[in-house]
Amino acid sequence: MNICQNQNGCKFYQSAILSASEKGKFYIENYCNGDNSKCARLMVFMGKGCAFVSADLFPDHIDRAYQILNESDSKSGIHAQ
Ligand code: SF4
Repeated sequence: MNICQNQNGCKFYQSAILSASEKGKFYIENYCNGDNSKCARLMVFMGKGCAFVSADLFPDHIDRAYQILNESDSKSGIHAQ
């Protein structure tokens, strides 16, 4: 078991806890309390910051995570202050 360091700030995790759905339990068990090194949300958070982690990015959206990580900041429409 490897507790994700981002649980307190992760809206997806908070939502999954509240929903207590089977799908939510799956993500928590396999990512948040499991192998979070393969979580798309954590990848984007670590690589670009929380502003780039959209609400609809699921832990298994790895292809999309790589796409976000490879986009330039100007292309994504989000600019560093
Ligand atoms: S969804 Fe990903 S970033 Fe969020 S707590 Fe779970 S493993 Fe961490």
